[in-house]
Amino acid sequence: MPVIRVALPVPLRYHFDYQLDNSEGICIGARVRVPFGKRELIGIVWQLEPKDQYTAELKSVLEVIDREPIFSEELRDLLSFAADYYHHPLGDVLVSALPTLLREGRSLSDEKQRRAELTQAGLQATAVDFKRSPKQLELWQLLANISQTQTQIATAGLMNAARQLEQKQLLTWKSESYQPFSYQPERQRALPLNPAQALAVTAITQAQGQFQRFLLEGVTGSGKTEVYLQAIAPVLASGQQVLVLVPEIGLTPQTLARFEKRFDVPMQVWHSNMTDHERLTAWQRSKSGDAAITIGTRSALFLPFYRLGLLIIDEEHDSSLKQQEGFRYHARDLAIKRASLLNCPIVLGTATPSLESFHNALQQKFIHLQLPERATSQQVPAIELIDLKQQVLQHGLATRTIDSIRKCLNRGQQVMLFLNRRGFAPALICHECGWLTDCPHCSAFMTFHKQSRMLVCHHCTTTRIVPHQCGHCGSTQLVPVGKGTEQLEEQLSTLFPQVPITRLDRDNTRRKGALEQLLATIAGGDSQLIVGTQMLAKGHHFPNVSLVVVVDVDGALYSSDFRASEHLAQLLTQVAGRAGRGDVAGKVLLQTHYPGHPLLQDVIQNGYHAFARSALLERQQTQLPPFMHMAILHAQSEDPQVCPLWLGQLQQFSRDYAPKVQLLGPIQPPLERKAGKYRWQLQFFAADRRDLHQLLQALLPFALSLPEQRRLKWQIDVDPQDLN
Ligand code: ADP
Ligand code: ZN
Ligand code: ZN
Repeated sequence: MPVIRVALPVPLRYHFDYQLDNSEGICIGARVRVPFGKRELIGIVWQLEPKDQYTAELKSVLEVIDREPIFSEELRDLLSFAADYYHHPLGDVLVSALPTLLREGRSLSDEKQRRAELTQAGLQATAVDFKRSPKQLELWQLLANISQTQTQIATAGLMNAARQLEQKQLLTWKSESYQPFSYQPERQRALPLNPAQALAVTAITQAQGQFQRFLLEGVTGSGKTEVYLQAIAPVLASGQQVLVLVPEIGLTPQTLARFEKRFDVPMQVWHSNMTDHERLTAWQRSKSGDAAITIGTRSALFLPFYRLGLLIIDEEHDSSLKQQEGFRYHARDLAIKRASLLNCPIVLGTATPSLESFHNALQQKFIHLQLPERATSQQVPAIELIDLKQQVLQHGLATRTIDSIRKCLNRGQQVMLFLNRRGFAPALICHECGWLTDCPHCSAFMTFHKQSRMLVCHHCTTTRIVPHQCGHCGSTQLVPVGKGTEQLEEQLSTLFPQVPITRLDRDNTRRKGALEQLLATIAGGDSQLIVGTQMLAKGHHFPNVSLVVVVDVDGALYSSDFRASEHLAQLLTQVAGRAGRGDVAGKVLLQTHYPGHPLLQDVIQNGYHAFARSALLERQQTQLPPFMHMAILHAQSEDPQVCPLWLGQLQQFSRDYAPKVQLLGPIQPPLERKAGKYRWQLQFFAADRRDLHQLLQALLPFALSLPEQRRLKWQIDVDPQDLN
């Protein structure tokens, strides 16, 4: 009987073989349903007829789901490269690249998207016909305007109404299969480019059809988006698709709107806030070639494109491009791999390049395109340090800060205040005995959220009602320590009672559509004071913001993470870039107790580019990435002993196996205990990437063979962004 090798989404690091009654029509890259232990799993056919000798009889495949590969050869190459590179099980990598419905085995053939439209009778109906059914009326009005997909109707909660209209023969379904898009001339004329932009567009366009990596380093407001748009145009004209990766969901609607203004081709977004149906549709529109432009967050990288001709990574320095759990891939790095497999150009755009990309540009691996000036006549705003030492502060704001805010408000302009901590206060403290609200499961405090009257641990999400009494002495004098965005919002409303305030953080943007709504409120000028976390720093374009206040930079100045200074410099530059993007000149105030700190001085006086050069030099001297290749093995267990014991043996093994690889650990990260588990890690550094990979390849089977392994959970992180 024919045998196939299947990649299954299980934490085990090998393939599984099954037999098949009939191998007709079976192909590599298709989904199959197979028995696995007592369960049934869906896996991907990875090899036909492996030449192994079998001692026992193989189990049979239960169902062949696809008659054509669900993964093209190009995607299979990308994903198997990723599995090797990140030392993550292939089956899990493959399955995580599929939309949920396909993971669950949904057949593709009956998932052709249906569209509802009105029949002749439906078109002749009038609103009076639906006076007893508001839902039917709503749907009828929608359809009178334009046909709707099943997904749209389901999302609007109108499926029942659709069935009723169908029964009355007022509505009919048309099934729609997607086709490669056809190019239409641009809607809006391109802007005349300045010389730096023109150089960039020419370079990218000349690379069409070739693998070429570009770092587009442009100060905020320098017109990077215009460069993207003009580099995209010839790609679309040649019938090829474009993928634009953006770091946050918040940026997708805004970026989409700008693209839609320019191009008259089908576009789609991809982000974590979509329903399963929407994701499946997007997946199909990519695969069929219907979606000419896809704008999405990191996992959009795994969409199956029909003909992808250009990849753009906007804000390439952003750490949200790295997945921090499970399959810990970096979307930027895998995107480069994908571009090489496809033989097409890739553009990494940012005002503040990651030191990795900056290094690659200096090494001439990337072509360095620079836009050193703003595209409009606006100056990059001045940054001013406000020394907090020995100052009288009002709600944590210096008098000078408050005066500047007031002046700006009086001129009718907007002010943005930036504080990278959500909630009301990072903890409550007992005024009598000093007891703090710590999380029972983590080595961390629980954040006080005043509006919801809750204590929340931001590490394990444990939630408690705010206690009335101290857990130690029973005193009722519990007071907030430190400040979060909720508190800042409250304090600003006492300082400026007449001024409308909008807060923007993860707490009030979780609900679908909430972020878009808040952004619209800000853009519409309905609120003059804007308070937020680092969400505010990312790419948004608010023309009427003329003052940005960074309330507290001190926390980030002294950190154990070697990337902290890079991230702070990026953040300050990005935040500053939010000011003065319209007709008004901008100003940035940084409040600090350490105005003489070399990092602050460097960024303020010399700008990010100069900072990056000196930071790279420092990384070279201290032998850190990108001059060394790094990986971390994380382990955690409820038992405080077992992780150091396990990692100690791995350390010994590594020392013998690969003396060239430097080791650090076993050590505990700053958050020593999380969700009841003790956390430990072993860090690896190698000058040559191959040494590191060979070691990890040999180490993992050894790690799995040790008895401690069963009493802990572990993960490997290659090229870690976050050491914690
Ligand atoms: P970035 O993405 O680099 O922050 P944007 O693309 O948002 O910059 O451009 C900033 C502003 O400059 C926008 O209002 C844009 O319309 C304008 N702009 C960009 N390029 C040009 C140009 N060549 N001529 C005039 N205005 C431009
Ligand atoms: Zn916790
Ligand atoms: Zn107490």
